[in-house]
Amino acid sequence: MIRVGQHDEDRFDRMRRVPWVDMDGISSSRVLVVGAGALGNEAVKNLVLAGFRDVTVLDMDHVVASNLSRCVFFRDSDVGGGMKTEIVAARASELDPSARIKPLVGRVQDLEDWDYDVALGCLDNVAARLHLNSHAYFHGVPYVDGATDGFRGKVQTVLPGGPCLQCVMNRSHARIAEVRFSCTGNKTGFVPKMAADITTTAVVAAIQAREAIKIASGKAEMCIKHVTYYNGENNESFTLEARIGKDCVNHG
Ligand SMILES: [Zn+2]
Repeated sequence: MIRVGQHDEDRFDRMRRVPWVDMDGISSSRVLVVGAGALGNEAVKNLVLAGFRDVTVLDMDHVVASNLSRCVFFRDSDVGGGMKTEIVAARASELDPSARIKPLVGRVQDLEDWDYDVALGCLDNVAARLHLNSHAYFHGVPYVDGATDGFRGKVQTVLPGGPCLQCVMNRSHARIAEVRFSCTGNKTGFVPKMAADITTTAVVAAIQAREAIKIASGKAEMCIKHVTYYNGENNESFTLEARIGKDCVNHG
């Protein structure tokens, strides 16, 4: 017999109401979030609230003032202070003290441990995303890549054996692959990065976290096939299937 208010005593009651969601799978999944900026903040917030208990956050930057309009975990007092990843880990732990949020300071190129069940790319440059893509693919780790540009966003889900980020990367991306864009204006290459506002960031990071929920629930077949585009200017979205690139180095 169900008592009045009984469901409200279960922290994850609303998640459990979705028939295919597996809370045991979610709580035991090891998630890697690369990037603790705008997308990373939103992704970690969503992951922890959704019940993920083992989240590692990798980033190499400090907090700057322009982060404050898009990052739920940063405060004015953080500007010029600690590392983004350490602040995200500390504040995300306040959302759910039983979650283990591990900060890693460094570049994705320095990552040696690939013992994860899913990786989320919340990066601002193509070179790091391609590096993450190829290493995740090599280690058989599902990879969910998020990207934003103004009011537009894109999410690609790369599953073992399927088309990867490199497969769909076009020539214009390859040309700018080695330039590290920064929304702070520092270390900027020849094309300034067009960072997204919080509403577009929130949409893209939510799609990424939802893909992680599907993968952790054993429902990878429900994931995006393979790239979904979101345009916040006209509120349209569409999904494009990709093929494994004949000359992609990650296959074969
Ligand atoms: Zn590929």
